[in-house]
Amino acid sequence: MVESKNQLYIGGEWVTPSTTNTIEVISPFTEEVIATVPEAAEGDVDRAVEAAQAALAGPYPQLSAEERADYLTKLSQAIGARAMELAETITAEMGSPASFSLMGQVFSATMILDGFANVTRTFPFEEHRAGALGPVLVRKESVGVSAGIVPWNVPLFEIACKLGPALAAGSPIILKPSPETPLDGYILAEILDEIGLPKGMVSLLPAGREVGEYLVRHPGIDKVTFTGSTAAGRKVGAICGEQLKRVTLELGGKSAAIILDDADLATHLPTLMPSALMNNGQACVAQTRILAPQGRYAEVVDAIAEAVKATSVGDPTDPSVLVGPLVAERQRDRVLSYIDKGTSEGAKLAVGGGRPAGLDKGWFVEPTLFVDVDNAMTIAQEEIFGPVLAVIPYSDEAEAVKIANDSDFGLSGSVWTTDVERGIDVARQVRTGTYGVNSMATIDIHQPFGGFKASGIGREFGAEGLAAFLETKTIVLPGDYQPPS
Ligand code: NAD
Repeated sequence: MVESKNQLYIGGEWVTPSTTNTIEVISPFTEEVIATVPEAAEGDVDRAVEAAQAALAGPYPQLSAEERADYLTKLSQAIGARAMELAETITAEMGSPASFSLMGQVFSATMILDGFANVTRTFPFEEHRAGALGPVLVRKESVGVSAGIVPWNVPLFEIACKLGPALAAGSPIILKPSPETPLDGYILAEILDEIGLPKGMVSLLPAGREVGEYLVRHPGIDKVTFTGSTAAGRKVGAICGEQLKRVTLELGGKSAAIILDDADLATHLPTLMPSALMNNGQACVAQTRILAPQGRYAEVVDAIAEAVKATSVGDPTDPSVLVGPLVAERQRDRVLSYIDKGTSEGAKLAVGGGRPAGLDKGWFVEPTLFVDVDNAMTIAQEEIFGPVLAVIPYSDEAEAVKIANDSDFGLSGSVWTTDVERGIDVARQVRTGTYGVNSMATIDIHQPFGGFKASGIGREFGAEGLAAFLETKTIVLPGDYQPPS
């Protein structure tokens, strides 16, 4: 199952790394090293870029849209065939609970690839149009060589977000997984071999931020697609701006779930709670600010407190567990420091706040609930990325929208109401890239997804996600030109 590796997958070949640097993958549950893999270095990036540039000349980028879509379908099916192994690997490397891994980590990735296969089959890659002076042909062509940098929280899902549109567009891609989660990428590389993807199209280079930055700056890269923290995204965006590289940035969030005064708590909370605590609270779209109407404040707080207390915590391989350990010791310490800050700034700790009883090993934090939170407090403004929720009171709907929008972020959000039209009206007013009305899924992985404000630039998924990997070319034709029928 989980085993050490000594090669890197570059341009579709298994090769000896350019250095002897290694990454130790540590189980967040046992705190023990479970595997060692090579850490890619600058020489490996150079080699991957060279292979990707060669692949641009063919054969893959010249395949028809239908043939490219067929590769995406084959890839999705081959991942599906190894879904359990992939889910178990991701649980082992980053602690995602088994109750979430299969669907949230693996089948969500195959669904992304299926979505891109469908979009590719119908996308207008060439369009004849009537121009100002005569007929024109508008073409959408591959953006060139792309680099995809992904975080550790949903590693295969994030790779699918980058690999799907790259293969759809015919763009060779160099993927850089996080050092915390390189193992699922090795299985993916085996799968890419298995489906016979033409050489050069994909390289997988697990490494840290310095090598990531070297990849972003590399003159052979035409487009960067980055998912990670807002701080790192600003840096990546600045480099791309300087070099005029195409860039997509999917960054942090601090989403607000607005419980309207007509909400039916018995129906809505069982749907809301998993989207607040999913993946151990390590989700960019987690609904971590819960806005409750003053008129029902005590009732909402009691119901949420009960749900948080009832959340099972423990061994992430146990299918009954909903919250496992955080990815790393530094992440656990970071989350605990936010809990201290919440208390010192005057929020009331209603549930949790420390290490769960009986779990002496593993980087656990109890599911934690702060109440009486003011939206100006640090725990309401900064992304904690752990199982920590804040309930904020509001007086009326207008104030709820104002609080939801009083954030540097604008990734996701949700509203909970018995009147769906009222919910849609609230959704129209909140400045975020994606929104749910009474829905656990605040994203749809076949439709555009991305952030307003500091949550990013650009969109993934759907036709918009494919367009982000394409350049547009206008070919002006003679006035009497007739397209072949
Ligand atoms: P991170 O920013 O520390 O790292 C993300 C990736 O970028 C890693 O592979 C890292 O090695 C690399 N990296 C970091 N600095 C870099 C630099 N200067 N140049 C090039 N590469 C660099 O984030 P993380 O802790 O791995 O992930 C958590 C963050 O990701 C959270 O903020 C979360 O909200 C965000 N996230 C966003 C989305 C989204 O779709 N918007 C999805 C998942 C996670």
